[in-house]
Amino acid sequence: METISSQLAGGLDTSSSPNSQQELQPYTGSSSLKPNQVSETILYGVPIVSLVIDGQERLCLAQISNTLLKNYSYNEIHNRRVALGITCVQCTPVQLEILRRAGAMPISSRRCGMITKREAERLCKSFLGAHSPPKLPENFAFDVSHQCAWGSRGNFIPARYNSSRAKCIKCSYCNMYFSPNKFIFHSHRTPEAKYTQPDAANFNSWRRHLKLTDKNSSDDLAHAWEDVKAMFNGGSRKRTLPIGGSEGGSCFLIIIM
Ligand SMILES: [Zn+2]
Repeated sequence: METISSQLAGGLDTSSSPNSQQELQPYTGSSSLKPNQVSETILYGVPIVSLVIDGQERLCLAQISNTLLKNYSYNEIHNRRVALGITCVQCTPVQLEILRRAGAMPISSRRCGMITKREAERLCKSFLGAHSPPKLPENFAFDVSHQCAWGSRGNFIPARYNSSRAKCIKCSYCNMYFSPNKFIFHSHRTPEAKYTQPDAANFNSWRRHLKLTDKNSSDDLAHAWEDVKAMFNGGSRKRTLPIGGSEGGSCFLIIIM
């Protein structure tokens, strides 16, 4: 963990080195996290304030938007967050006050969404790049499905995913290869299929629609899938229309001008 407890967390011996601080406050998972404990975490080299909410360390999305992602608009960040399936938690007035005192928010801010560190890393990575394909066994394929129109199922082969348009998904029904963007518009009317009207074609929509078939996949597999989905998702500055508010809950960012 790159977490540095701040003075606000209270009671730290100022003479102790970072190593001995860790001995004083060992990181042993959520059980050691106190509600509303303020810390600082380094994201892409930038210190970001974090707060423990419901036993989980969450970072201030407004601060990330105003620092690491300051070259991107509110809509771009919002759409990308929804496309990545990242839900943010709204902080309470007390938590907001803590964030203000920690310097994460201007006094005038009235709301702030909080996301987990891993989500923050995924969001920043999707904009700032530095993507490298996750380590996967050779000939590995993700078993993926979508529910658009009659739905379909296929094998997403990461080794073939070398550009956004690579034909890296082999349909399990007809054995043809498709790019992710095309695959979500390819479906088969199987006996058990039910029809779902596809929503408007969105540049990044396959990332929302294409899911691992096994909903109980291991964390490692789910994380590898997230990492693969983050690839070829950063370079575009194309603006997309806001995606309907049904996914990801509402989230408000305060942009400091
Ligand atoms: Zn097919």
